[in-house]
Amino acid sequence: PPPVEKYEYQAEVSRLMDLIVNSLYSNKEVFLRELISNASDALDKLRYLSVTDPDLSKDAADLDIRIYADKENGVITLTDSGIGMTRQELVDCLGTIAQSGTAKFLTALKVLLDNKDAGGDNNLIGQFGVGFYSAFLVADRVTVSTKSPKSDKQYVWEGEEGSSSYTIKEETDPQLIIPRGTRITLHLKVRNALPDYKGFADPERVQKLVKNYSQFVSFPIYTWQEKGYTKEVEVDDDSAESKQDNQDDQAERKKKTKKVVERYWDWELTNETQPIWLRNSKEVTTEEYNEFYRKTFNEYLDPLASSHFTTEGEVEFRSILYVPPVSPMGKDDVVNQKTKNIRLYVKRVFISDDFDGELFPRYLSFIKGVVDSHDLPLNVSREILQESRIVRIMKKRLVKKAFDMILGISLSENREDYEKFWDNFGKHLKLGCIEDRENHKRLAPLLRFFSSQSENDMISLDEYVENMKAEQKAIYYVASDSITSAKNAPFLEKLLEKELEVLYLVEPIDEVAIQSLKSYKDKDFIDISKEDLDLGKCDKNEEKEAAAKKEFGQTCDWIKKRLGDKVASVQISSRLSSSPCVLVSGKFGWSANMERLMKAQSA
Ligand code: ADP
Ligand code: MG
Repeated sequence: PPPVEKYEYQAEVSRLMDLIVNSLYSNKEVFLRELISNASDALDKLRYLSVTDPDLSKDAADLDIRIYADKENGVITLTDSGIGMTRQELVDCLGTIAQSGTAKFLTALKVLLDNKDAGGDNNLIGQFGVGFYSAFLVADRVTVSTKSPKSDKQYVWEGEEGSSSYTIKEETDPQLIIPRGTRITLHLKVRNALPDYKGFADPERVQKLVKNYSQFVSFPIYTWQEKGYTKEVEVDDDSAESKQDNQDDQAERKKKTKKVVERYWDWELTNETQPIWLRNSKEVTTEEYNEFYRKTFNEYLDPLASSHFTTEGEVEFRSILYVPPVSPMGKDDVVNQKTKNIRLYVKRVFISDDFDGELFPRYLSFIKGVVDSHDLPLNVSREILQESRIVRIMKKRLVKKAFDMILGISLSENREDYEKFWDNFGKHLKLGCIEDRENHKRLAPLLRFFSSQSENDMISLDEYVENMKAEQKAIYYVASDSITSAKNAPFLEKLLEKELEVLYLVEPIDEVAIQSLKSYKDKDFIDISKEDLDLGKCDKNEEKEAAAKKEFGQTCDWIKKRLGDKVASVQISSRLSSSPCVLVSGKFGWSANMERLMKAQSA
């Protein structure tokens, strides 16, 4: 017999398995969803790779998933004809936590535990994917027999619940040899008499679970089911009655049959494989869109909005886009993070989720969704994507749809939805103002700020403009590090007195974003902390100014002399009403706020 080699799990894996099995999961059924999703990933990988290397899939034709449940013995076997794993991949994938759903689970768990009021209970946690290890929710022994096209040998991984090690050996039983793919066998916890684990291997239950959890898997899933059909069988009719009637003819002999139900077992197709984005959007319910979102992106909350569309003409593609309800990296999210938010398909074949940067500008990278193109080549690479005219057009359309979707949230009757959106993704849009001049017209109406007349609820620029005084020409703002200090800025006095609304820019990025926009609806943005603030007709009293100049001109000169180079000039101003003096920035210089930011950055 070939040697059996023993390996230790990475420490985190042991801890995680313990956590999963012993404390977190009340919903044990999720194991099936996780294993099917891995099988589906493995099939996706194979299908993609065999586009360029058809030899890969020559051994076994069908790309499918088969689940065999043996209730009698408490065993479930799940087989896929996907990419399989080499020996080394077995060690890397099933013995360590890499970039996997498992790693994501740990992050999510941390967020939940830090944030109990968000509902950090078992139930919520139960909706996360924990990947492969969820097999141990129901099984005390798991074997994974797998054959990769990269290797000529098939290997068997075996692990037991509660053990800190696992084994790998070569598969030698000729009956268990598969041409390609992975077979996972779960030995259910039947020795543990308490709950009825055998029940998980009930074929009907498996069928229900598959229907429930895997309706968006795009490969056929077959389950082993008992079936029946009725057939007529002839029966020996030796009743007294028939013996009397001996002269019976053909017609009467026919009556001597009866109907019986013939039972047999066979594979039954259990899911629908038509991808949801190929369906007519009129026939898909919101709940179906939400469910697709949760299942595809392994999320537990519903999206804030979704948009399903088809474009035809110059380029043809279908897409479903989503606005997530929360920013995965928290509000201070750095937009440079790589995401796997856009799943790119070419004619239904999953290509990659690594391309999102090519399809959306960085500031919209939080948008999630699927894009299925008709015009790209199947062996599309990043280089092709970057240079393709088709992709440029797709990107334009996708961006437009994303903006429509966000605008939709902002127009929703439920103001809270947009507040939630803004709280999570406002920063992204402000970054957009800086980086994407072309879309200023779409970005500006989506911005929200506090103001001197609305310190608790943010307002839009449209609301500001509506509230402008008849003679007011510009949109006034003051940049500061908080509402309190913005409110106390002496520059504000005059404007408050005249009841002119002033936007409070309190986030570091705000000022740069506003300056990039320059104006909104032909109204310039004006920083009220700069010199020469001109309040236009709202504020002209030349007589008074001349009198003040006469009276205080010499005082100004004297102050300038005393301060020397520390200030550029000392001037009489009409902008204050109760403070005696104020420090302002030069017209072309940095604002005090900007200076503060630059200092913080260079420190
Ligand atoms: P994730 O699926 O999020 O990566 P999992 O814990 O579910 O995390 O799986 C870990 C890894 O094990 C997968 O990324 C994959 O590389 C490998 N794997 C699991 N199941 C299969 C399978 N059926 N075929 C091929 N590889 C698999
Ligand atoms: Mg997985």
